[in-house]
Amino acid sequence: MARQGLSRLLPGVLGIKATSSWSKLTYDSTFRHDMPAVSSYFSTMKTPRQVRIVEVGVRDGLQNEKEIVPTDIKLELLDRLADAGLKSIEATSFVSPKWVPQMADHVDLMKRLKRRPGVSYSVLVPNVKGLELAMEVHPEEIAVFTAASESFCKKNTNCSVAESLQRIEEIMARAKKEKIRVRGYVSCVVGCPFEGPIEPSATAKVAAELYRMGCYEISLGDTIGVGTPGSVRKMLDQVMASVPAEALAVHFHDTYGQALANIVIALEMGINVVDSSVAGLGGCPYAPGASGNAATEDVVYMLNGLGVESGVDLPKLISAGDFVCKYLQRPSSSKVAQAMQRRKSSVAKKPVDSKVPCNA
Ligand SMILES: [Zn+2]
Repeated sequence: MARQGLSRLLPGVLGIKATSSWSKLTYDSTFRHDMPAVSSYFSTMKTPRQVRIVEVGVRDGLQNEKEIVPTDIKLELLDRLADAGLKSIEATSFVSPKWVPQMADHVDLMKRLKRRPGVSYSVLVPNVKGLELAMEVHPEEIAVFTAASESFCKKNTNCSVAESLQRIEEIMARAKKEKIRVRGYVSCVVGCPFEGPIEPSATAKVAAELYRMGCYEISLGDTIGVGTPGSVRKMLDQVMASVPAEALAVHFHDTYGQALANIVIALEMGINVVDSSVAGLGGCPYAPGASGNAATEDVVYMLNGLGVESGVDLPKLISAGDFVCKYLQRPSSSKVAQAMQRRKSSVAKKPVDSKVPCNA
């Protein structure tokens, strides 16, 4: 009875069918009719057929680790992520080791990286000097960054938003000569640790500027994870008035547990590129307690449930997350990885009795 109750509730909420094997939750539109209000929501919801995931755990995630992670560990993690099917992976940062000591091995790492065909490895660059150094190791693309908040920009890049855009313009001119693609990041798109809520118009202005300069994609970052579907929708509405959905990506940290809900809103609004971090690695040095990005495992599980292709093999991805968590001696922040782990250990202890009710 209880299991039946849960299977009626879950499909209504997530549009998924509960099967006898919880690891094989599948999408089944017929189940949506269980709950009329939710079913009408899903029947009008537009989700893309495919989503490209940009894996940022090795850079955005690990750069928040105080202890230096050895290059060999990073290389194995990068290899496992590519093996899991991820095609866009941020590998390192060329910000000065003085500011980000964790990424001081950038040249060595890029030289030793076993590149796979079809995988784009990107590196973060702060200025033309960083770009010049990065070009020596031939990344497939580079990423530049600024913020929608003046205070955050000052703390993070030691200059105003206008000055950071000027810096990016110089990088863009050089990147054009080098014929390398540039992705732009906007931090604090809905909230800032110093200024509080950010006006959607401020985010829209910066995103439009990056687009005008020639960034092929602009990743909108809720760096401290305070956004909700409400504030995210308002922000995207304004951004999309000047930047097409095809040139946008979303990057949600999960501090308040809203990342997946925010991703669904973005998908519904026509965006089909999502940044995420294996095992939910990361944080924000200026926002104590801020969580890492949405965990890639959780994003893939959700996309599978929605019938949206990501090309990522979930078991291989979970194994990549286990690998780095074992090294860091920390449990994964991915709910999916945690659930799979609990399931594995309970199966190892005793056979699961399928008749035991699972109280919802
Ligand atoms: Zn981030």
